[in-house]
Amino acid sequence: SELPGDTETKNQRRQVYNAFYSFVAPTPTNSEPVTVAYSGDVARMIGLDPAECERPEFAATFSGNAPVPGGSRPYAQCYGGHQFGMWAGQLGDGRAISLGEAVGPDGKTYELQLKGAGATPYSRMADGRAVLRSSLREFVASEAMHALGIPTTRALSLVATGAKVLRDMFYNGNAKYEPGAVVCRVSPSFIRFGTFQLPAIRGGDQIALIAPLADYVIRHHYPHLQGREDRYAAFLQEVVTRTAHLIAFWQSVGFVHGVGNTDNFSVLGETIDYGPYGFLERFDPNFTPNTTDLDGRRYTYRAQPGIGHWNSAQLANSLIAAGLLNLEQAQPIVDSFADTMMEAYTGRMARKMGLSKYDRDLAVGLVTIMYEDKADFTNTFRALASVSDSDDPGSIPAPLEEALEDLTEERRAAWGKWLDDLRAAHRAEGRSEAARWADQDSVNPCYVPRNQLMQTAIARAEAGDYDELKELMKVLERPYEEQPGAERFRVTPPKEIRMGVELL
Ligand code: AMP
Ligand code: MG
Ligand code: MG
Repeated sequence: SELPGDTETKNQRRQVYNAFYSFVAPTPTNSEPVTVAYSGDVARMIGLDPAECERPEFAATFSGNAPVPGGSRPYAQCYGGHQFGMWAGQLGDGRAISLGEAVGPDGKTYELQLKGAGATPYSRMADGRAVLRSSLREFVASEAMHALGIPTTRALSLVATGAKVLRDMFYNGNAKYEPGAVVCRVSPSFIRFGTFQLPAIRGGDQIALIAPLADYVIRHHYPHLQGREDRYAAFLQEVVTRTAHLIAFWQSVGFVHGVGNTDNFSVLGETIDYGPYGFLERFDPNFTPNTTDLDGRRYTYRAQPGIGHWNSAQLANSLIAAGLLNLEQAQPIVDSFADTMMEAYTGRMARKMGLSKYDRDLAVGLVTIMYEDKADFTNTFRALASVSDSDDPGSIPAPLEEALEDLTEERRAAWGKWLDDLRAAHRAEGRSEAARWADQDSVNPCYVPRNQLMQTAIARAEAGDYDELKELMKVLERPYEEQPGAERFRVTPPKEIRMGVELL
């Protein structure tokens, strides 16, 4: 480690100064851990034979019950963050412990982090544990997002600890014991915007920590910027650009993170910290999967671009506080977020409609009728690759008709009219239909981790049956390919269900 760390070994909750991490070991449970699922793909990426993941020794190490064979020095990171727009002070890895780093066959270095393996100095009032329900959701989303082509932390494994964890279930207020589990997350880095913010906002002598942190991140993750006089501005620009692309990607598949706090934004521009995330099903731009945000609606689908922009400004402020760049340099970089995001987003939305050039009227027209008909986001876009220049005017191709379910005559007319405009735009572009449809199918997934699919997998897993999870993972591995027999993974909730409320 080349960054200042905390060498205190006592593991009590405390404020940690002058350090970016504290050494802390996982707390073993008094029970027999079982590997519920693992990603062979991630195992190979970090140079581990997937067969190793089947061994009981694997479950022991990746639940935190046994140390890494050969030894390692586990640690938890120190960071702060704005939570729901308010500065929250020190947060840190309250239930995440990094075991160390592995070098993959590609020569790249990957940090392996256990989530739910016990308390750390950053656990505050909580227990440092995670339940099977939330761990399964993180495991599924990490690998599904990767398969969708979206930058994300990965997940090596999901191990049930065999121990029970007490949780206060927010929807009925009753405390209840749930099975505990540990996910092993994998990324080149888990450094967050909030890692820079904490010393910046504490101020005083803590400011001196920021330059070595920036140099560390540049040396390890943006090495091409080393030695440049404008390296801090260039670093900020790259993070802002990556974050803008990330959010454009989220918007294009209807992913809603749910907790866009600055401690949940990675300096690598990866999706990180899957909590109450959701995918848009029946289209509603005001959807939030976060039941604690139903009044504030800070982290809805439509709010995500603005949140990415605001969070980028907080990262910039931290670099400014350290004198690594000034406001005049930072302002245009932060402002570039909007254009970069819009360019990436409109490019993606055009392709989803089968166009090479974005047409604002068509896009707005589409989301308007989708909203009015509570159309399923994923199924509707996927069905657009059936729209043909040879369709009868006013007609709705059969796959789209099916995706839209039972339309009234009046609504059929609205869709027919919009489709005529789309067909006219297709004809004006003059591309071959085969090329157009293939491109659409490469940006409109058939399968996303719908909430009800995970609820089913969770219920089965809690009963000790992991087959449903395995089947779900298999389908989500190839989200852009229609898979025979997988129709049940495309089912949308009933129209009466208001997303984000009754479903969670
Ligand atoms: P999150 O909302 O998951 O991003 O978490 C915000 C902060 O709360 C982070 O510092 C987490 O490490 C911490 N935290 C969340 N859940 C727990 C838990 N069960 N035990 C300890 N810390 C937690
Ligand atoms: Mg977090
Ligand atoms: Mg978290």
